[in-house]
Amino acid sequence: MSYNLDNTPEHLKGPLFQNALQAIDEAGTLMKIDPNILARLKSPRRCIVVSVPVRMDDQSVQVFTGYRVQYNTTLGPYKGGIRYHQKVDLSEVVGLAALMTFKNSVLGLPYGGAKGGVTVDPTKLSRTEKQNLTRRYTSEISQFIGPAKDIPAPDVGTDPQTMAWLMDTYSQEQGGFTQPGVVTGKPIEIGGSLGRTGATGLGVVYITERAFEVQGKTIKGSSLGIQGFGNVGSHAALYAFERGAKVVAVTDLDGGCFNGDGLNIPSLIEHFKQNKTLRGFKGAKDIQNNELITMPLDALLPCALEGVIDVKNAASVGAKMIVEGANGPVTIDATKLLHDRGVFIVPDIIANGGGVIVSYFEWVQDIMSFFWEEDDINGKLKSIITKAFNTTWDTAKEKKVDMRSAAMGVAVKRLEKAMLLRGLYPR
Ligand code: GLU
Repeated sequence: MSYNLDNTPEHLKGPLFQNALQAIDEAGTLMKIDPNILARLKSPRRCIVVSVPVRMDDQSVQVFTGYRVQYNTTLGPYKGGIRYHQKVDLSEVVGLAALMTFKNSVLGLPYGGAKGGVTVDPTKLSRTEKQNLTRRYTSEISQFIGPAKDIPAPDVGTDPQTMAWLMDTYSQEQGGFTQPGVVTGKPIEIGGSLGRTGATGLGVVYITERAFEVQGKTIKGSSLGIQGFGNVGSHAALYAFERGAKVVAVTDLDGGCFNGDGLNIPSLIEHFKQNKTLRGFKGAKDIQNNELITMPLDALLPCALEGVIDVKNAASVGAKMIVEGANGPVTIDATKLLHDRGVFIVPDIIANGGGVIVSYFEWVQDIMSFFWEEDDINGKLKSIITKAFNTTWDTAKEKKVDMRSAAMGVAVKRLEKAMLLRGLYPR
């Protein structure tokens, strides 16, 4: 499906956001949503664009562009990660902020949706340059964020250290008073939560287990393929391996490796740490990224970037199930084609929700200054993410639709109820 974009501002034309708009419209029809509410849900509330000048190691100054899009705040403070990547632009951040809004809603979290980003290849920056960039970006958006306003977190290209610099910069600018609740995904020593680093990957595996279960199958002995070996993909691979899944293929930027009997994931993590590539892993065959898409698998877990499966390659997908560890890896039209072919797809807004769920726990712990045990955290993560899956599964069966349509339906319905209760300001 495509819209007439003649009068649409450039930053609302990106494929990820266009995809989200289509999903919102379809959810509107499915759940009979008030058209006034639907119109409001199709537009980001606030898009902040900032210049980020950075002193580089050679003493030159480079000016980067940073974004923070605050999409919707009906359900609570804005929440969503910050991405550092060379392909980041405003339209991508708008799309990701929309997804965060529906993710937080379907998960039942007390948050609105936001996303941030800087157009930069972080692998090309030294530690000092990355710190300078993070501090200036934080300073530029600091009046718009805060523990009760908007709480960033890690995403592609950022990590706990980045969040530590963000927290420090924000706190220094608030008179030097430490405010851990301004950001989640921090190191444990400064108010981070146990379990946060592996949370997205663990959530992906809880959901993979549950999705197999409703189809009368088990994760144990299943063959899995994982695209992306960053924070999400590597943790998902490890937790799936620990549960007896055969992770037969894994790829990252420059290709990956395959072993039909299952890869030894702890050794592969070590190999990747040392060699910065998945290729050349002992006992495995090197493969290209596109081979993973066509491979016959019980489940494919795309855990990298958006738009990797679209109408062009959907027909070649070899997996029986797709669990979206990344945000937006399968387009809506590709979802329909795959669903009609009997491929079970668990959408991103549920499948990768583990990250923001444990972010929520981190924020609560920071506010209470009382920290929980890891078992407690993982147990609560499992119960929230499973509840979102079950509600969506029931809706999918009742309405006879795919899981993405059902999840969007549940998310948009919850937003509609809250927006109608709050009313339109000023009237
Ligand atoms: N970046 C993650 C996501 O896309 C986590 C967001 C958060 O914890 O706020 O869901």
